Amino acid sequence: MIEYDFLIAKDVDSALEYMHKYENIKVLAGGTDILVDIHKESKRLEKFDYILDISNIKGLQYINEKEDNVELGALCTHTMLIQSNVINKYFPFLVTAAKSIGSVQIRNRGTVGGNISNASPAADLIPPLMALNSKIELSSINGKRYIPLDQYIVGPYKTSKNQDELLTKIIIPKVDENYRFSFQKIGRRRALNIARLNLAVVAKINEQDSKIEDIRIVPGSATPFPIRFKNIEREILNQKANQLNLEELAKKIGDEMVKITGERWSTPYKKPALGAIFKKAIMEISNSSQRF
Ligand SMILES: Cc1cc2nc3c(=O)[nH]c(=O)nc-3n(C[C@H](O)[C@H](O)[C@H](O)COP(=O)(O)OP(=O)(O)OC[C@H]3O[C@@H](n4cnc5c(N)ncnc54)[C@H](O)[C@@H]3O)c2cc1C
Repeated sequence: MIEYDFLIAKDVDSALEYMHKYENIKVLAGGTDILVDIHKESKRLEKFDYILDISNIKGLQYINEKEDNVELGALCTHTMLIQSNVINKYFPFLVTAAKSIGSVQIRNRGTVGGNISNASPAADLIPPLMALNSKIELSSINGKRYIPLDQYIVGPYKTSKNQDELLTKIIIPKVDENYRFSFQKIGRRRALNIARLNLAVVAKINEQDSKIEDIRIVPGSATPFPIRFKNIEREILNQKANQLNLEELAKKIGDEMVKITGERWSTPYKKPALGAIFKKAIMEISNSSQRF
């Protein structure tokens, strides 16, 4: 059995004090990942002596609309995303992704900060947040720093967070009304399904000539940790959305995945499956009307 001392933070300042004072400290937000790992004595868990429960910090439970961004407190739950008018208005595919997560209980407890910080290859919120060029705020007693999400996730279940830092905020830049979004997921089963594959696509399509002026493609569970598929993005950029050779691109995205991961036992399944959800995403984006 893993033994540890349990600390409770009532606000961000006291959490940061604890994180400065104690070494080998593990944060507990909703607990839906970490408590399972502790129960299973997962080999993934690095040695720790303290659990710091931040789940009651009210100051981290918010969704705020700013002029250029939408900001999520680290303790924003999946249910909060689903119920938020702001998220439904600006980033509807984030709602689709949040709705696909686990069960009602998991969505009520699980947080955005936890989903990101667990850095699972199968995390459902990382691909859409990465495709939105989100940034995160890391706080410590020495102040705050801001880094792009793709610099936070640095390996499977690995982040670039320092021991004394707490993820406090996720900042999502707003995009203009010519942007379209798609989130696709293939799970093991309907209830409590961890993604076998997921995919987020964000694209800006010129209203007049259908040209794709910006595109960001982030598959999940396809590579050791979610990354943008920039080679595929380059193939698509400046092409007309309704004239893409989807069969060819579907094959290319599968090849790109294998280039990164090498052939694995799952390749015969994942390669065509990724191609299929990619085609679905591009068709959804090409056919969708104005976002607002
Ligand atoms: C039955 C079941 C089904 C699930 N289904 C899905 C699914 O479909 N899709 C999916 O993506 N996930 C799924 N999950 C995983 C999990 O629910 C989510 O990843 C959830 O968002 C994790 O958030 P949490 O607040 O519970 O994290 P916790 O378990 O509290 O923490 C997870 C990790 O992040 C760290 N951490 C948490 N918050 C912070 C912070 N603010 N700063 C720094 N580090 C932090 C913790 O130390 C820990 O290492 C499922 C889990 C279960 C048990």
